[in-house]
Amino acid sequence: GGGLPRPEQTRVIVVANQKGGVGKTTTTVNLAASLALHGSRVLVIDLDPQGNASTALGIDHHAEVPSVYDVLVDSKPLADIVQPVQDVEGLFCAPATIDLAGAEIELVSLVARESRLQRAIQAYEQPLDYILIDCPPSLGLLTVNALVAGAEVLIPIQCEYYALEGLGQLLRNVDLVRGHLNPRLHVSTILLTMYDGRTRLASQVADEVRSHFGSEVLRTSIPRSVRISEAPSYGQTVLTYDPSSSGSLSYLEAAREIALRGVGVRYDGRHAHALP
Ligand code: ADP
Ligand code: MG
Repeated sequence: GGGLPRPEQTRVIVVANQKGGVGKTTTTVNLAASLALHGSRVLVIDLDPQGNASTALGIDHHAEVPSVYDVLVDSKPLADIVQPVQDVEGLFCAPATIDLAGAEIELVSLVARESRLQRAIQAYEQPLDYILIDCPPSLGLLTVNALVAGAEVLIPIQCEYYALEGLGQLLRNVDLVRGHLNPRLHVSTILLTMYDGRTRLASQVADEVRSHFGSEVLRTSIPRSVRISEAPSYGQTVLTYDPSSSGSLSYLEAAREIALRGVGVRYDGRHAHALP
């Protein structure tokens, strides 16, 4: 790793798509590990009560563990719940426990219910290059907290039928949050996941997504890969589970593209050109 430019300020990236199973969690943990392996300091915030990102990072998240729930509902400092990820230097995780399932309702009656995560992040003093937030498959208050806390939205899109279905609703929510709560918010990144280059369907979906979104779509797409889907059951990202697999290489490349874009360098396959 190493050798990639680090952002001047912490980039807070919200990984969102209210559809389940499109690769949000897989993308969050593997991009985070890739950015860390490239030399950055990265925090994953698990905002899904299922705790899949915590599991995939090998982080203990049984019911007694201090978690994102305590941060959102009881205003516990983020620093009190963050755990280092084994085997990946510079990678940290704020775990989710099943308690978080209740937070969606408990938050409703709290003051500043939409901005509790933002406040917790602002009070966190450890230096970080990236914060990646793994959202649940819904557009409720947990996802709204992520959208208020972040500046960038990364939408993973699975190369399947109906890939774009429901995205309008997500985009309208992004617009609403931008208009009322967080003027910096924008969709910065679209990532095509589970891409199978041998099928016509996948390339048709990819073309459709590219013509719809244009430059937000990363040039790198993530292939469908058994190694990617096996890694979480070992509490590992694919980057440590099988570092030379196509899944690892594609996430490292996607991370490179995201890092270069962040400092205004256009990624062009193997070459990178400074933007005019
Ligand atoms: P989400 O968080 O959006 O619900 P996940 O990241 O959990 O989606 O992915 C859904 C399922 O697809 C998981 O079983 C995961 O292991 C699998 N998966 C995700 N990305 C890939 C990929 N590139 N290749 C193969 N399987 C994948
Ligand atoms: Mg998930």
